[in-house]
Amino acid sequence: MAFEGLSERLQTAFRNLRGKGKISEADLRSTMREVRLALLDADVNFAVVRKFVKQVEEQANGENVLEGLNPGQQIIKIVDEQLTEMMGGATTELTTAPKIPTIVMMAGLQGAGKTTTVGKLARKLKQEKQARPLLIAADVYRPAAIEQLQQVGAQIDVPVFAEGTDVDPVQIAIDGVKAAQANHNDYVFIDTAGRLQIDDSLMDELKKIKAAVHPTDTLLVVDAMTGQNAVQTAEGFNDALDITGVILTKLDGDTRGGAALSIKAVTGKPILYTGQGEKLADLDVFHPDRMASRILG
Ligand code: GDP
Repeated sequence: MAFEGLSERLQTAFRNLRGKGKISEADLRSTMREVRLALLDADVNFAVVRKFVKQVEEQANGENVLEGLNPGQQIIKIVDEQLTEMMGGATTELTTAPKIPTIVMMAGLQGAGKTTTVGKLARKLKQEKQARPLLIAADVYRPAAIEQLQQVGAQIDVPVFAEGTDVDPVQIAIDGVKAAQANHNDYVFIDTAGRLQIDDSLMDELKKIKAAVHPTDTLLVVDAMTGQNAVQTAEGFNDALDITGVILTKLDGDTRGGAALSIKAVTGKPILYTGQGEKLADLDVFHPDRMASRILG
C-alpha cells in the first residue's frame, strides 16, 4: 500500500505535539525537520518539500499558533491543509465537451497502464453515466496493442475503432472521431503509442494527433512505482503536449507515493484519477483532501 512509510513517519513526528499544551519554537522546528525528511524519503520532489515546509512554518507563525489553544492540533491541521493544497486542492473532474463526443487523448510511456486505464475510464463512465464510449486504437507500433485494447473493449462491452497497423496514427484518430460522430458516441478515448523513454518522434506524433482532433482532455498516464521519474515524465510530456491532467497508476503497489504529492506542484497539472489494481474496476477519483487525511492517519 502506498504511503505506508510516510504515514508512519509523520505520525511519529506529530506524536510529540499531540498531547502538549505548550509547544516551543524549537519543538516546531524539530517536528518540521522530521516532516521534511519523511517527505524526501517518500520521494517527494526537493523543491516541493522546501516550499511546503516554509508555508507550514509561515502559516503557524502568522496565526500565532504556538500562543493559542491546542497548538499541536492546529499545526497538524495546517499540515493537512498544505498537503491537500500541494496535491491540487479541489478534486478535478473530466471535462465534458459542450457537444458530443468528449474526446480524451491518453498518453504515457509504455507499460504505464494506458490501455488498461482507457478501459477503466470507459467502464466507469458507462456505469455511472450510461455513457456510450468508443475506444480508438492509435498505437500502430505494437500489433499486440490493438489486440489488447480490443480485449479490454470486449470485457466491458465497449466498441473499439481500429484500422490496423498500416495507417498513420493521426489519420486513425481523425477517422475514429468521425466514426464516433456518426454513431453518436458521447465519449472517445484515443489510446496512443508509448515508448520506453520520451523521444522526439513520439512527441511529434502525439502533438500531431492533438492538433488534428482537439481533445477535450489530454491525460497523461504515469506509473507511481517509478518514483521521481514519474514526475520527470510528467514534466516532459507537459512541456511538449500541454496535458490537462494526470492519472497515476499502480498506487496499490509498494510505492512511496512521492509522485502523487509532487506532480501538481511541479507541473501545475492535477491528478484526476488513481489506478489501484489491475482489474478494470480498480480506478478511483483522486481527492487531495482525502489523500492528505489518509496520509496523516
Ligand atoms: P500501456 O503500455 O501503458 O498501455 O500499459 P498497460 O495498460 O498494458 O499496463 C501495463 C501493466 O500494468 C499491465 O500488466 C497492467 O495490468 C498493469 N497495470 C495497469 N494499471 C495498474 C494499476 O493501477 N495497478 C496495478 N497493480 N497494475 C496496473
